[in-house]
Amino acid sequence: MKAPSQRMLDVLIAGRGPVGLALAIALDRAGLSVALVGPSPVAPKPQTSHDWDPRVYALSSSTLALLNELHVWDLVDLDRVAPVYAMKVFSDAGANAQSVDFNAYSAGLDALAQIIEHRNLTQALERALRFRDIRVIESGVIESGAGTGDMEVFPGHVEWRAEPTSPEPLRARLLIGADGARSRVRVALGLDGAQHEYDQHAVVANFLGEHSHLDTARQWFGDDGVLALLPLPLDEQRRGRVSLVWSVSGERAAELMALTAEGLAAIVSNAVHGQFGRLEPLSSAQCLPLMRLSARALVASRVALVGDAGHVIHPMAGQGMNLGFGDVATLARVLGQREAERDCGEITLLRRYARARAEPVLAMTLATDGLYRMFYKAPAQIAPLRNLAFRALNQLAFAKRWMVSEAAGGTSS
Ligand SMILES: Cc1cc2nc3c(=O)[nH]c(=O)nc-3n(C[C@H](O)[C@H](O)[C@H](O)COP(=O)(O)OP(=O)(O)OC[C@H]3O[C@@H](n4cnc5c(N)ncnc54)[C@H](O)[C@@H]3O)c2cc1C
Repeated sequence: MKAPSQRMLDVLIAGRGPVGLALAIALDRAGLSVALVGPSPVAPKPQTSHDWDPRVYALSSSTLALLNELHVWDLVDLDRVAPVYAMKVFSDAGANAQSVDFNAYSAGLDALAQIIEHRNLTQALERALRFRDIRVIESGVIESGAGTGDMEVFPGHVEWRAEPTSPEPLRARLLIGADGARSRVRVALGLDGAQHEYDQHAVVANFLGEHSHLDTARQWFGDDGVLALLPLPLDEQRRGRVSLVWSVSGERAAELMALTAEGLAAIVSNAVHGQFGRLEPLSSAQCLPLMRLSARALVASRVALVGDAGHVIHPMAGQGMNLGFGDVATLARVLGQREAERDCGEITLLRRYARARAEPVLAMTLATDGLYRMFYKAPAQIAPLRNLAFRALNQLAFAKRWMVSEAAGGTSS
């Protein structure tokens, strides 16, 4: 038999999104040999005070701890990050709207979350990657329908011909799918599970208000859908920049996307009863379809899934990425602390990771799906009950503290 010339790697990661990048850095730091396969990043655009990425994430304190540990947070442009010290969730946008108020001080946290643009986060991760000894293989995105073809699982290793021109496949003890919601690894290797397309799309865009947002995130659960305005850094005149995530029906999303940037700003300002005064657009709008997805299992022999490849949830709680970073922290810990006799693709080891992630992933999936059903799918007659429920919840300090601690760290384990 011909001896293989490609070195056997510990781990091969498919997917160069935020979760795949963070995992590659974490596993390299844990002393594993790692290769990362994915499309090359878009060349960084100069970031100006008038140009804000409409894709933003609310990162929890557990995620921040991970990014600090990986020395990624040091590379973030902090002038473009905004802390969230308080949050107000309204039962609807009408005159009887009740709110549930959360704040970092009562929860014993420095901040409830940090809001960061997608490109600021990925540029920091890409820069941190360059300091590590990680082999990076640039590929196109291979559609999940492409079949197993070039991916093969053997009892002791996996092979993947990620570069079609390469005479030999890459070989590793473990293949990790970090290739997002349409994961080819998940589909090709038989881990596909329940998938549900929500009849909602998220319209995202950024605006400059006339007043400060007071470092407060606001969210309205209305008949029209869920509208969130997240704080971005204030401008030089201390006016609040805000980032919109508006989850609405496909029809309504199409109407909103057909508007001019100024037209959308006026509709949003109206929907939030002018809380920020007149809104001025800071970006064009984007529209994203929403889904819920749970892989049949997060692991199989020599395969593991992380991030959206393993689970996708409704964005109303702003927790999908935090769950993915929770996967990263757990998998890096399990693989880094493995017994000397185990290689990192052994199923016994991978099951430790799957068991540790089962509860936080299921809890967040059920919570976001339940809220979607209660506020969007329930008949209009129960709207007054929602207001009562919000008023009651706002009185329950211990319940609010529990909810904040779940969102801050409950997504990790
Ligand atoms: C409107 C909206 C708002 C959100 N807000 C928040 C928030 O505030 N906080 C939060 O925590 N989460 C939020 N989320 C969720 C968050 O966006 C996702 O959970 C997160 O992007 C998942 O990251 P990922 O790296 O797993 O996947 P992705 O970001 O999808 O990255 C996957 C990568 O894999 C690559 N790829 C795909 N196929 C292949 C292949 N075959 N081979 C190699 N590479 C491949 C892709 O090009 C991509 O680079 C939000 C989601 C939406 C829709």
